[in-house]
Amino acid sequence: MIIDFRTVFGTGENRVDVDYDLDLSDLDYYGFHPITKPAKVTGSVTESAGVLRLKVSVSLLYSAPCDRCATEVSRQMDFEFSHVLVNEISGDDNDELILLDDMKLDLDELLRTDVILSLPTKFLCRDDCKGICQTCGADLNKGACGCSTEKIDPRLEALKQLL
Ligand SMILES: [Zn+2]
Ligand SMILES: [Zn+2]
Repeated sequence: MIIDFRTVFGTGENRVDVDYDLDLSDLDYYGFHPITKPAKVTGSVTESAGVLRLKVSVSLLYSAPCDRCATEVSRQMDFEFSHVLVNEISGDDNDELILLDDMKLDLDELLRTDVILSLPTKFLCRDDCKGICQTCGADLNKGACGCSTEKIDPRLEALKQLL
């Protein structure tokens, strides 16, 4: 969705409401496409004394394998993003300031970046996921597999000898 503020605010309006579905199914995150259903975007851009402020909520369903046990999990996530939109950047650049291209904003592109930066870098099916056994590959959430748990990390062992 591209918003052309010259058309919108040229008519004396000082608010644009945004309410649409954003397709992020091709968004690549660490080799996965975790957002298969369209994300819901709601919010507005308001103009006050020449300053444009964007405030939107993005609600999406994130589906990815658990980092420990590889079970596929879907989780509802809601994000809030706000930016100040400017025609030129004078002085300090910062993340909150978004430079408009000829008074136009490519909202999809902006939100795509915002969403990527907000997605979890660590994703677990549950906080205490036990993961899978390194030896036999059993899902340890479903019970112990019987392999020895006495395995000692060789790096730790080396450290112990140093101490
Ligand atoms: Zn898990
Ligand atoms: Zn095992």
